[in-house]
Amino acid sequence: MQECRTAPRRIVVKLSGEALGGAPGTALDAAVLARLAADVAAAAKKCEIALVIGGGNLLRGATLAGDGIARTTADHMGMLATIINALAFRDVLRGLGAPAEALSSHAVASVVEGYSVQRADALLRSGAVALLAGGTGNPLFTTDTAAILRAIELGASLVVKATKVDGVYAADPAIHPDAARFDALTYGEAMEKRLGVVDLTAMALAQEYGLPMLVCDINAPGALTKAAAGAKVGTRIAADSAK
Ligand code: UDP
Repeated sequence: MQECRTAPRRIVVKLSGEALGGAPGTALDAAVLARLAADVAAAAKKCEIALVIGGGNLLRGATLAGDGIARTTADHMGMLATIINALAFRDVLRGLGAPAEALSSHAVASVVEGYSVQRADALLRSGAVALLAGGTGNPLFTTDTAAILRAIELGASLVVKATKVDGVYAADPAIHPDAARFDALTYGEAMEKRLGVVDLTAMALAQEYGLPMLVCDINAPGALTKAAAGAKVGTRIAADSAK
């Protein structure tokens, strides 16, 4: 492993909904879910893990809104999509023997219980993976912002943004194969260079509260476990004074 920082006690992992899909048209792919859940279960042996799951594989509010569906309604639907993903991921984790529970910003009676800091904290202390669904609970926000918000609320020392590439690049490496990859960045630099790692609201919140973020490849074997053990993987983004 590369340079090891102090192993975090608790992390929040942000997984986009799209990471759960397979071939076009398959929003939830069983094999992909099984592989990702195995990674999360292995990482959860190193530190406490709260998982914030997106819903983009099923629905994005900004895309759906219009033609008679209000943006607020579309965003409520998007938040419901994150609950669908969290329930699937919870069950797959449990199937692997990893204790897991889903909590949602909006409870859905008899389907998913409501999130509270106390409930999530107790779950994490018990060694269970806490799947935090429903985003922030408010329209017009994203699950990236929810991940930062929950990390701050729950006293996590790191947010891991799981992506399809092994860090942050100066340009999209799929389009520009020669694009430089950053090893470390400050939030100020990421915002100034408009690198689009997470949305600006999420970045501003992380910067204000001095919460570092690792951007790493969810498909790289062991990447999440390394991050959970405090090893350097991907690109680390930190508040300006703590790079
Ligand atoms: N959403 C919302 N408020 C939140 C988080 C999510 O309204 O705090 C809605 C929004 O419509 C968004 C959708 O849920 O498009 C899915 O979340 P997101 O786009 O963050 O998912 P991801 O792209 O990470 O899969």
